[in-house]
Amino acid sequence: MTAAAPACVYLDHAATTPVRPEVAEAMAAAQAEAWGNPSSPHAAGRRAKRVLEECREKILALLGGRTAGIDRDRLVFTSGATEANRLAILGLAAGGTGVFASSARDHTSVRNLHGELAGRGWFVAEPPLAGTGRIAPEWVFPTSGRGIWVTTLVCGQSGTVEDVPGIAAAVRSRPDVLLHVDATQAVVTQPIVLGDLGAATLTLAPHKFSGPRGIGAVVVRGGVALAPLVAGPQEAGLRGGTEPVVLAVGFARALELAVGERAAEAARLADIREQFARTFAAAAAVHGLRVERLAAPPLSSPHILTLALPGIDRQAFVMAADLAGVCCGTGTACASGSSEPAPALVAMGLSAESVAAAVRFSFGRTTTAADVDAATSRLEPVLARIGSADGARCR
Ligand code: PLP
Repeated sequence: MTAAAPACVYLDHAATTPVRPEVAEAMAAAQAEAWGNPSSPHAAGRRAKRVLEECREKILALLGGRTAGIDRDRLVFTSGATEANRLAILGLAAGGTGVFASSARDHTSVRNLHGELAGRGWFVAEPPLAGTGRIAPEWVFPTSGRGIWVTTLVCGQSGTVEDVPGIAAAVRSRPDVLLHVDATQAVVTQPIVLGDLGAATLTLAPHKFSGPRGIGAVVVRGGVALAPLVAGPQEAGLRGGTEPVVLAVGFARALELAVGERAAEAARLADIREQFARTFAAAAAVHGLRVERLAAPPLSSPHILTLALPGIDRQAFVMAADLAGVCCGTGTACASGSSEPAPALVAMGLSAESVAAAVRFSFGRTTTAADVDAATSRLEPVLARIGSADGARCR
């Protein structure tokens, strides 16, 4: 008997990833043993509290945080990276004004705060992007006073890796400028060491690295003041609400595995990405289509490949690919089947045609070389249709 072809070849790991078996096992064990409310003073609560605190310490240690001493770093569990970005940024911005810098390469959850902070009296500066997809290196933080600078380590739209240590060095002599690093897309392929990144706060969420959805975290460097968004006694007063202990166990286990496998997995994903880029471009060329690579190595994370087939509509392509059995994405938030053009690609100076045609393929732990071949052959009829349609041919 031959194995049935999978319903879809999943090439959208930047959107979310399937939970890996080791993580599911750890969560099942925790569900049986640590189901209590960590705030309860009885044995069940104490057990849950102990497990929760072990997870917190483990995650902090895996991120190079200080877990002991008077200026120990803190970790606040949230519902995901959107809430974590919001807590970090609004928490740093509380009780005053200054300059807030955030660029087109930041996630919607960050860009959504521009208007809110402007309404609270903050001056919002938008650093321009270079053609590489990084913040233009000549850009200078425009104040000698208080400021918050958001940097996204790996851009979810283009895959570009930011020079965060370089940015940290540029503001090191300015203690009033705090750096918030969004590391949500970075865990699978980039080393993350809180101190090396110079971050005052850092956010991440395990559903991007084979862990559970519904949990994320803000890491807060020792001595940095943060105000809560939801008041309550939990999370040292920084986020009210009963903590999801089972999800925290999955988070810690997924991070432990991802950190242990990072170097090998980054190299494997680089090979997978090149294989896909090559075979997809070859299949497109057969039908007279030119494929444009929008953010190329070495500055992009190997799990993301952003391509444009000039002349196509990105949303129509994603839908056609889905019907053909390949899951991919546009790289931006999608509501009711329509996505905004990726602002990072616009800011990189790409043509409107390339941005309109930009499709994001993203690879992860479960992606194999066989998946890449299967995806290319499933996409073959889609490319054939595009190639035979007016206006989509190679110009
Ligand atoms: N930050 C970045 C860079 C992301 O790519 C994403 C999601 O794609 C988020 C934040 C938001 O993550 P979540 O879906 O966990 O809220």
